[in-house]
Amino acid sequence: MTKQRELILQILNQADRHLTADEVFFLAKLRMPSIAMATVYNNLNAMHAAGVISRVHVDGGADCFEKTAEAHDHLMCEGCGKLSNVRLPRLGTQLSETLGMPIVGYDLTIRYLCAECRKK
Ligand SMILES: [Zn+2]
Ligand SMILES: [Zn+2]
Repeated sequence: MTKQRELILQILNQADRHLTADEVFFLAKLRMPSIAMATVYNNLNAMHAAGVISRVHVDGGADCFEKTAEAHDHLMCEGCGKLSNVRLPRLGTQLSETLGMPIVGYDLTIRYLCAECRKK
């Protein structure tokens, strides 16, 4: 593993939230000033392809990255764009039962209004 990739992985491991590629680049640059944006993008793409990290597509925003932990789905606040993880362990089983065939995976982002945005 290259030093750059190690650093990017460390950043994603330490983050307590989903990071955009720009945020990863910003954090990486603090610790490795010589790192290039393209290097960050290439590493994120390569690690995503290898299944080491997940990419979350955000409607109308930049894709986010996170370290792949357990399978989970996402809740996105329509007010402030906050993204959180949610576990729906039975949904995959339900989908394959409804379809009558095994599924390989699915992408789900549930849109809602978080507590702070509901107050407004
Ligand atoms: Zn919100
Ligand atoms: Zn997530």
